[in-house]
Amino acid sequence: MKLLENKNALITGASRGIGKGIAMEFAKQGANVAFTYNASAEAAKALESELESFGVKAKGYQSNAANFDAAQDLAKQTLEDFGSIDILINNAGITRDNLLLRISEEDFDKVVEVNLKSVFNLTKAVIRPMIKQKGGSIINMSSVVGVKGNAGQTNYAASKAGILGFTKSVALELGSRNIRCNAIAPGFIETEMTAKLDEKTVNEWRTSIPLKRGGSTLDIANACIFLASDMSSYITGQTLQVDGGMLT
Ligand code: NAP
Repeated sequence: MKLLENKNALITGASRGIGKGIAMEFAKQGANVAFTYNASAEAAKALESELESFGVKAKGYQSNAANFDAAQDLAKQTLEDFGSIDILINNAGITRDNLLLRISEEDFDKVVEVNLKSVFNLTKAVIRPMIKQKGGSIINMSSVVGVKGNAGQTNYAASKAGILGFTKSVALELGSRNIRCNAIAPGFIETEMTAKLDEKTVNEWRTSIPLKRGGSTLDIANACIFLASDMSSYITGQTLQVDGGMLT
Protein backbone atom coordinates (compact mmCIF):
# COMPACT_ATOMS: atom_id res chain seq x y z
CA MET A 1 0.00 0.00 0.00
CA LYS A 2 1.27 3.49 -0.85
CA LEU A 3 0.89 5.85 2.10
CA LEU A 4 0.49 9.11 0.16
CA GLU A 5 -1.57 7.97 -2.84
CA ASN A 6 -3.55 10.83 -4.44
CA LYS A 7 -2.16 13.47 -2.09
CA ASN A 8 -0.58 16.66 -3.41
CA ALA A 9 2.51 17.88 -1.59
CA LEU A 10 4.30 21.22 -1.77
CA ILE A 11 7.93 21.04 -0.60
CA THR A 12 10.19 24.09 -0.37
CA GLY A 13 13.90 23.82 -1.15
CA ALA A 14 13.89 20.44 -2.84
CA SER A 15 16.54 20.88 -5.55
CA ARG A 16 19.04 19.05 -3.33
CA GLY A 17 19.69 17.66 0.14
CA ILE A 18 16.89 16.78 2.53
CA GLY A 19 14.16 18.39 0.39
CA LYS A 20 15.15 16.31 -2.62
CA GLY A 21 15.19 13.16 -0.48
CA ILE A 22 11.68 13.93 0.76
CA ALA A 23 10.43 14.62 -2.79
CA MET A 24 11.78 11.27 -4.02
CA GLU A 25 10.29 9.23 -1.17
CA PHE A 26 6.97 11.05 -1.46
CA ALA A 27 6.78 10.21 -5.17
CA LYS A 28 7.52 6.55 -4.36
CA GLN A 29 4.59 6.68 -1.90
CA GLY A 30 2.27 7.95 -4.64
CA ALA A 31 2.21 11.69 -3.84
CA ASN A 32 2.18 14.31 -6.58
CA VAL A 33 5.00 16.72 -5.83
CA ALA A 34 5.23 20.47 -6.32
CA PHE A 35 8.59 21.72 -5.13
CA THR A 36 10.62 24.90 -5.06
CA TYR A 37 14.23 25.92 -5.41
CA ASN A 38 16.15 29.16 -5.17
CA ALA A 39 18.76 29.01 -7.93
CA SER A 40 19.35 25.37 -8.98
CA ALA A 41 17.21 25.39 -12.15
CA GLU A 42 19.03 22.50 -13.83
CA ALA A 43 18.85 20.25 -10.78
CA ALA A 44 15.15 21.09 -10.47
CA LYS A 45 14.44 20.06 -14.08
CA ALA A 46 16.28 16.79 -13.55
CA LEU A 47 14.34 16.13 -10.35
CA GLU A 48 11.03 16.75 -12.14
CA SER A 49 11.84 13.93 -14.57
CA GLU A 50 13.04 11.60 -11.79
CA LEU A 51 9.82 12.13 -9.85
CA GLU A 52 7.65 11.62 -12.93
CA SER A 53 9.33 8.26 -13.47
CA PHE A 54 7.41 7.04 -10.39
CA GLY A 55 4.13 7.75 -12.24
CA VAL A 56 3.19 10.91 -10.31
CA LYS A 57 2.76 14.52 -11.37
CA ALA A 58 5.75 16.71 -10.50
CA LYS A 59 6.70 20.34 -11.05
CA GLY A 60 9.52 22.58 -9.82
CA TYR A 61 9.03 26.31 -9.25
CA GLN A 62 11.73 28.95 -8.78
CA SER A 63 10.39 30.80 -5.76
CA ASN A 64 12.11 32.68 -2.93
CA ALA A 65 10.53 31.32 0.24
CA ALA A 66 11.61 34.44 2.15
CA ASN A 67 9.36 36.64 0.01
CA PHE A 68 5.75 37.00 1.16
CA ASP A 69 4.24 37.84 -2.26
CA ALA A 70 6.22 35.08 -3.97
CA ALA A 71 4.73 32.57 -1.49
CA GLN A 72 1.22 33.77 -2.27
CA ASP A 73 1.88 33.44 -6.02
CA LEU A 74 3.40 30.00 -5.52
CA ALA A 75 0.41 28.66 -3.61
CA LYS A 76 -1.97 30.07 -6.25
CA GLN A 77 0.05 28.53 -9.09
CA THR A 78 0.34 25.18 -7.30
CA LEU A 79 -3.42 25.08 -6.73
CA GLU A 80 -4.01 25.84 -10.42
CA ASP A 81 -1.57 23.13 -11.50
CA PHE A 82 -2.40 20.43 -8.91
CA GLY A 83 -5.95 21.20 -7.72
CA SER A 84 -5.17 21.04 -3.98
CA ILE A 85 -2.33 21.25 -1.48
CA ASP A 86 -2.75 18.46 1.09
CA ILE A 87 0.75 18.57 2.52
CA LEU A 88 3.12 21.51 2.97
CA ILE A 89 6.74 20.89 3.92
CA ASN A 90 8.62 24.02 4.91
CA ASN A 91 12.11 22.72 4.32
CA ALA A 92 14.06 25.58 2.66
CA GLY A 93 16.86 26.78 4.88
CA ILE A 94 20.34 28.29 4.93
CA THR A 95 23.22 28.83 7.35
CA ARG A 96 25.47 31.87 7.77
CA ASP A 97 27.50 30.69 10.77
CA ASN A 98 29.60 33.02 12.88
CA LEU A 99 30.31 33.80 16.51
CA LEU A 100 28.01 36.46 17.93
CA LEU A 101 31.02 38.78 18.33
CA ARG A 102 31.58 38.68 14.58
CA ILE A 103 28.16 38.11 13.04
CA SER A 104 26.78 40.93 10.88
CA GLU A 105 23.25 42.29 11.11
CA GLU A 106 22.77 41.24 7.49
CA ASP A 107 23.67 37.60 8.22
CA PHE A 108 21.30 37.52 11.19
CA ASP A 109 18.41 38.98 9.19
CA LYS A 110 19.03 36.80 6.13
CA VAL A 111 18.92 33.53 8.08
CA VAL A 112 15.80 34.53 9.99
CA GLU A 113 14.09 35.58 6.75
CA VAL A 114 14.90 32.42 4.79
CA ASN A 115 14.44 29.95 7.67
CA LEU A 116 11.64 31.44 9.79
CA LYS A 117 9.77 34.12 7.86
CA SER A 118 9.47 31.63 4.99
CA VAL A 119 7.53 29.26 7.28
CA PHE A 120 5.07 32.08 8.06
CA ASN A 121 4.87 33.04 4.35
CA LEU A 122 4.08 29.57 3.04
CA THR A 123 1.85 28.49 5.91
CA LYS A 124 -0.19 31.68 5.56
CA ALA A 125 -0.47 31.04 1.83
CA VAL A 126 -1.86 27.48 2.16
CA ILE A 127 -4.17 27.60 5.17
CA ARG A 128 -7.17 29.12 3.36
CA PRO A 129 -7.26 26.35 0.76
CA MET A 130 -6.60 23.75 3.49
CA ILE A 131 -9.52 25.10 5.54
CA LYS A 132 -11.75 24.95 2.46
CA GLN A 133 -10.75 21.36 1.72
CA LYS A 134 -11.22 20.51 5.42
CA GLY A 135 -7.77 19.23 6.20
CA GLY A 136 -4.04 19.26 5.66
CA SER A 137 -0.69 18.40 7.17
CA ILE A 138 2.06 21.01 7.59
CA ILE A 139 5.58 19.90 8.47
CA ASN A 140 8.25 22.42 9.42
CA MET A 141 11.94 21.59 9.26
CA SER A 142 13.53 22.78 12.48
CA SER A 143 16.81 21.40 13.86
CA VAL A 144 18.36 19.98 17.03
CA VAL A 145 20.11 23.36 17.08
CA GLY A 146 16.70 25.00 17.56
CA VAL A 147 16.00 22.71 20.53
CA LYS A 148 19.42 22.94 22.21
CA GLY A 149 21.28 25.96 20.79
CA ASN A 150 24.76 25.88 19.26
CA ALA A 151 27.79 28.12 19.65
CA GLY A 152 28.46 29.91 16.36
CA GLN A 153 24.85 29.61 15.20
CA THR A 154 22.86 32.24 17.12
CA ASN A 155 21.03 33.28 13.96
CA TYR A 156 20.28 29.72 12.84
CA ALA A 157 19.30 28.54 16.36
CA ALA A 158 16.95 31.51 16.81
CA SER A 159 15.29 30.82 13.46
CA LYS A 160 14.89 27.10 14.18
CA ALA A 161 13.61 27.65 17.75
CA GLY A 162 11.15 30.21 16.34
CA ILE A 163 9.80 27.50 14.04
CA LEU A 164 8.93 25.36 17.07
CA GLY A 165 6.82 28.10 18.69
CA PHE A 166 5.16 28.84 15.36
CA THR A 167 4.39 25.14 14.82
CA LYS A 168 2.70 24.70 18.21
CA SER A 169 0.65 27.87 17.72
CA VAL A 170 -0.57 26.79 14.27
CA ALA A 171 -1.51 23.40 15.73
CA LEU A 172 -3.59 25.15 18.41
CA GLU A 173 -5.25 27.58 15.98
CA LEU A 174 -6.10 25.14 13.24
CA GLY A 175 -6.66 21.80 14.94
CA SER A 176 -10.42 22.37 14.85
CA ARG A 177 -10.13 22.64 11.04
CA ASN A 178 -8.40 19.26 10.81
CA ILE A 179 -5.12 20.91 9.88
CA ARG A 180 -2.17 19.32 11.67
CA CYS A 181 1.16 21.07 12.10
CA ASN A 182 4.31 19.33 13.34
CA ALA A 183 8.03 19.98 13.29
CA ILE A 184 10.97 17.73 12.61
CA ALA A 185 14.28 18.43 14.34
CA PRO A 186 16.97 16.65 12.33
CA GLY A 187 20.32 16.04 13.95
CA PHE A 188 23.42 15.78 11.81
CA ILE A 189 22.24 14.86 8.31
CA GLU A 190 24.89 14.40 5.64
CA THR A 191 24.06 16.89 2.84
CA GLU A 192 25.75 19.84 1.09
CA MET A 193 24.86 21.98 4.11
CA THR A 194 26.97 19.80 6.40
CA ALA A 195 29.64 19.09 3.73
CA LYS A 196 30.85 22.65 4.39
CA LEU A 197 32.11 21.51 7.82
CA ASP A 198 35.69 20.28 8.23
CA GLU A 199 36.34 16.51 8.50
CA LYS A 200 37.49 16.72 12.15
CA THR A 201 34.22 18.37 13.23
CA VAL A 202 32.22 15.84 11.21
CA ASN A 203 34.01 12.90 12.86
CA GLU A 204 33.45 14.40 16.30
CA TRP A 205 29.73 14.65 15.48
CA ARG A 206 29.61 11.05 14.28
CA THR A 207 31.31 9.56 17.36
CA SER A 208 29.16 11.58 19.78
CA ILE A 209 25.89 10.30 18.25
CA PRO A 210 24.44 7.25 20.12
CA LEU A 211 23.66 5.50 16.80
CA LYS A 212 27.27 6.25 15.69
CA ARG A 213 26.49 7.69 12.26
CA GLY A 214 25.26 10.83 10.59
CA GLY A 215 21.66 10.69 9.41
CA SER A 216 20.65 10.30 5.77
CA THR A 217 18.06 12.24 3.81
CA LEU A 218 16.05 8.99 3.81
CA ASP A 219 15.89 9.06 7.62
CA ILE A 220 14.23 12.48 7.44
CA ALA A 221 12.01 11.58 4.48
CA ASN A 222 10.63 8.56 6.37
CA ALA A 223 9.65 10.79 9.30
CA CYS A 224 7.97 13.18 6.84
CA ILE A 225 5.99 10.33 5.25
CA PHE A 226 4.68 9.41 8.69
CA LEU A 227 3.71 12.97 9.64
CA ALA A 228 2.20 13.68 6.20
CA SER A 229 0.17 10.48 6.02
CA ASP A 230 -3.01 9.43 7.79
CA MET A 231 -0.81 7.19 10.00
CA SER A 232 -0.27 10.28 12.19
CA SER A 233 -3.86 11.56 12.07
CA TYR A 234 -3.99 12.13 15.87
CA ILE A 235 -0.60 13.85 16.11
CA THR A 236 -0.24 17.63 16.00
CA GLY A 237 1.92 20.32 17.62
CA GLN A 238 4.83 17.91 18.12
CA THR A 239 8.53 18.07 17.42
CA LEU A 240 9.94 14.80 16.19
CA GLN A 241 13.69 14.60 16.81
CA VAL A 242 15.34 12.55 14.08
CA ASP A 243 18.86 12.69 15.39
CA GLY A 244 20.22 9.22 16.16
CA GLY A 245 19.70 9.92 19.86
CA MET A 246 21.91 13.04 19.79
CA LEU A 247 19.88 14.98 22.37
CA THR A 248 19.12 12.02 24.62
P1 NAP B 1 20.87 22.18 1.45
O1 NAP B 1 21.46 20.91 0.97
O2 NAP B 1 21.74 23.39 1.60
O3 NAP B 1 19.60 22.56 0.53
C1 NAP B 1 18.86 23.72 0.77
C2 NAP B 1 17.67 23.79 -0.16
O4 NAP B 1 16.93 24.99 0.15
C3 NAP B 1 18.05 23.89 -1.62
O5 NAP B 1 17.10 23.21 -2.40
C4 NAP B 1 17.99 25.39 -1.89
O6 NAP B 1 17.71 25.72 -3.26
C5 NAP B 1 16.80 25.76 -1.05
N1 NAP B 1 16.75 27.19 -0.70
C6 NAP B 1 17.72 27.94 -0.12
N2 NAP B 1 17.28 29.20 0.04
C7 NAP B 1 16.03 29.26 -0.47
C8 NAP B 1 15.06 30.27 -0.63
N3 NAP B 1 15.29 31.53 -0.23
N4 NAP B 1 13.86 29.97 -1.21
C9 NAP B 1 13.60 28.71 -1.62
N5 NAP B 1 14.48 27.70 -1.51
C10 NAP B 1 15.68 27.97 -0.94
O7 NAP B 1 20.20 21.99 2.91
P2 NAP B 1 19.73 20.65 3.68
O8 NAP B 1 20.89 20.14 4.47
O9 NAP B 1 19.05 19.73 2.73
O10 NAP B 1 18.69 21.25 4.73
C11 NAP B 1 17.29 21.30 4.46
C12 NAP B 1 16.58 21.80 5.72
O11 NAP B 1 16.89 20.95 6.83
C13 NAP B 1 17.01 23.21 6.15
O12 NAP B 1 15.91 23.91 6.67
C14 NAP B 1 18.03 22.94 7.23
O13 NAP B 1 18.15 24.03 8.13
C15 NAP B 1 17.42 21.72 7.89
N6 NAP B 1 18.38 20.92 8.64
C16 NAP B 1 19.45 20.34 8.05
C17 NAP B 1 20.33 19.60 8.81
C18 NAP B 1 21.51 18.90 8.21
O14 NAP B 1 22.28 18.31 8.98
N7 NAP B 1 21.72 18.92 6.90
C19 NAP B 1 20.14 19.45 10.18
C20 NAP B 1 19.03 20.06 10.77
C21 NAP B 1 18.16 20.79 9.99
P3 NAP B 1 18.94 25.99 -4.34
O15 NAP B 1 19.52 24.63 -4.63
O16 NAP B 1 18.27 26.57 -5.51
O17 NAP B 1 19.90 26.90 -3.64
